[in-house]
Amino acid sequence: MQSWEDKSEIEITFLGGLGEVGMNCFTLETEKEFFMIDCGVLFSDLEPFSVDVACPNFGLIHDKMPKFSGIILTHGHEDHIGALPYAVQSGLEVPLYASPFTAHLIREKLRGFGLENSVEIHVFRPGDTLKFESISIQTIPINHSIIEACSFVMRTPAGVVVHTSDFRIDDHPEIGSRLDSKAFEKVGNEGVRLLLADSTNIENPDRNPSESELLPQLEALFLNQKSMTLFTLFSSNIGRVSQLFRLAEKHGKKVALCGRGVETYIKYARESGYLASIDSCLVSIDQLESYRRKDRVVLVTGSQGEYRSVLARVAMREHPLIHLEAGDRVVYSSKPIPGNEVEIGRVINRLFQQGIEVLYRRTPLLHVSGHATRPELKEMHDWVRPQHFTPVHGEHRHLFLHRQLAVERGMRDDQVSVVKNGDCIHVTPSDVWVEQRFEDTRWLIDSTMRIPVSRDLVKKRRRLGESGLVTVVFPMDSKRGKLLSSVEIRIAGLLEDPEEAIEALKTRVQRVYQRQIKGNSFQFDALSHNVRLDIRRYFKDWINRKPEVQCIMVEI
Ligand SMILES: [Zn+2]
Repeated sequence: MQSWEDKSEIEITFLGGLGEVGMNCFTLETEKEFFMIDCGVLFSDLEPFSVDVACPNFGLIHDKMPKFSGIILTHGHEDHIGALPYAVQSGLEVPLYASPFTAHLIREKLRGFGLENSVEIHVFRPGDTLKFESISIQTIPINHSIIEACSFVMRTPAGVVVHTSDFRIDDHPEIGSRLDSKAFEKVGNEGVRLLLADSTNIENPDRNPSESELLPQLEALFLNQKSMTLFTLFSSNIGRVSQLFRLAEKHGKKVALCGRGVETYIKYARESGYLASIDSCLVSIDQLESYRRKDRVVLVTGSQGEYRSVLARVAMREHPLIHLEAGDRVVYSSKPIPGNEVEIGRVINRLFQQGIEVLYRRTPLLHVSGHATRPELKEMHDWVRPQHFTPVHGEHRHLFLHRQLAVERGMRDDQVSVVKNGDCIHVTPSDVWVEQRFEDTRWLIDSTMRIPVSRDLVKKRRRLGESGLVTVVFPMDSKRGKLLSSVEIRIAGLLEDPEEAIEALKTRVQRVYQRQIKGNSFQFDALSHNVRLDIRRYFKDWINRKPEVQCIMVEI
């Protein structure tokens, strides 16, 4: 373990969340202790190769176990807690700290991996201060698209570090109160050594409308509801769920839930003391049948076009319990996460084809963001007035634009560090500097095996999927210990009718073989290598494909 020359120094190392939207995770290390703040996944575009998510490479920090005091979670979104099972599975069996609602979500997640008894979960109330040996963490409740989200004020030997995590400023949130600006101002007066702040929504120049501003538009939908209505939303958005239930009750509608996401989040919100008064209009999906079609409302999963989600199956007319008719309505009270537009569009098109009315555009206003826009970020900077600033949570352009904002607010260039995953920020009471610590901080997770897989394996899967497999079998005379010159070739997943190619390849392989046995030091590995190169060159020249090639020796 490294020696700690300056006992007041702290190190903050980013394992994810920079240059990407997702996988939020960084570590904070003091001389005596090691912490992780958030532990999220990044949804992957490698799904066709069985890689649904990426998560931080926890192997990089296993040597910190002797001083690892815990993982502290700011809120329950997947990009903040989704990687916990992989962390625990990898051996990081350390205490977790979370709010009551977040703790429920974490337990459910760990249960899915059979890991619920592997770690202790300590529950804090938003507003509490967590005290550790070398630091304390004051949690400040903030506004976000999930309940019980917190910013952290970390009092460390190097000074105060404020981490906003995901936040927005909502003057009239559906649940909870307006973000407590006084708390941030107070910390600002104390003197903030370093601010880490959410950057995702920096491109938006306008203040976010309040969650309560959705109410008239949503109410209009209930007022003129002529047939069954399906709402799809981010299941974790309990504030939105609460609004929909309030309106349903007011207008005499019955609401059913359909889909694991909505059911789970609502169940845990209720167990955490929210949504207490929804029973008057909540019915099971079977009971819904007994009400007039125009009084039926269903909250369904699938706002992102997910392949097996309820809404996708409804659109395919494959859902066993929900059958839409022409004139029914589907409302997207959500926005597409970048990258999901094609899948969402596919579902919407199918619904339109069936005569369903689909509301999915920005007007009327049916969704507001949970992330601070430029004017809200400015307010945060004005409250906190940090000595040093690092933008976090965002793609590269978001981080650079956020840097610009800080400079516009009066910070000098040398007071702002835009860093990348793997970088470590050293902070002392008098200095801040950045060092590149790790090159690659990402693990790709195989969705079926639920374990990390290497980039090489994924590359191989991609090649197999795109260009198929050529297998070359070399028979060997086991008595004489010599390879026979006749080879067997199989081609899978590349050509409709591979016979002709197989004959051509046999001749080529023979040629490579003959060349090889003329050499003095014949080795099967070298033969395989040259055969692989030759076959791939053949297909590249012919059909611009480079198949995976495997060579096998069989004793006969
Ligand atoms: Zn979030």
